[in-house]
Amino acid sequence: MVVKKPLKRWLGNVADDWMDFAFPRECVCCGDLLLRSEMEVCWVCYAQLPFSVHAFGLHNPVAKSLWGRIPVYGGYYLLNYQAKTMTSKILKSLKYDGGVIMAHRLGELMGEELKKQGFHLQCDGLIPVPMHPKKELKRGYNPAKLIARGIAESLGVSMIENALIKRNATVSQTKKNRLERWYQTQHDFDVTSVGEGLRHVALVDDVFTTGATAERCLRSLYSAGVERASVLSLAFTV
Ligand SMILES: [Zn+2]
Repeated sequence: MVVKKPLKRWLGNVADDWMDFAFPRECVCCGDLLLRSEMEVCWVCYAQLPFSVHAFGLHNPVAKSLWGRIPVYGGYYLLNYQAKTMTSKILKSLKYDGGVIMAHRLGELMGEELKKQGFHLQCDGLIPVPMHPKKELKRGYNPAKLIARGIAESLGVSMIENALIKRNATVSQTKKNRLERWYQTQHDFDVTSVGEGLRHVALVDDVFTTGATAERCLRSLYSAGVERASVLSLAFTV
């Protein structure tokens, strides 16, 4: 039976309404019920998100945090991060509450912003910061990988999914100071393969705090022959 388009659309809307009624979704920031057209964040909260005003580049705060520690071509982040803010609620949702769609959508948004700045013309591939395979299996996903996929799709740039591998599962990084994090991550990342002919790759993570993880990842990538590396993060601790 051929179902005509308007009827098909109407049936789709009825199904969506029923899903919203049976399984109401809440905004991860304010807890209000979401409209069908809204993703995990309602429009009111979205309008108040603390978006970064910094463009991609060597003077972006992400890149500046790495000055004097490791060569970096440029940095970029989308959201300012502070404890107990909307960004922290979004990150918590990404890490612990299965925010798969949101991670991908925020990645797409990052990609759209980067595309306006011509980033897709200079970057050859995106490399997500890996989780330990056991941890990823337990959680079901790696937020950094989902964000990288969203960026890759917006930019039309490839994602090199398993270029880096994390060796050892570590205790939560949030309870350690910068020196402890540095030592903890010193030999954590192995490079499998970054492919041929890639001059400029960008590391992708969900949050950039001390830069210890990015520094270690970049060191591994340079030792594997990468010429130029940048760092892209969904959020940056201000
Ligand atoms: Zn909200």
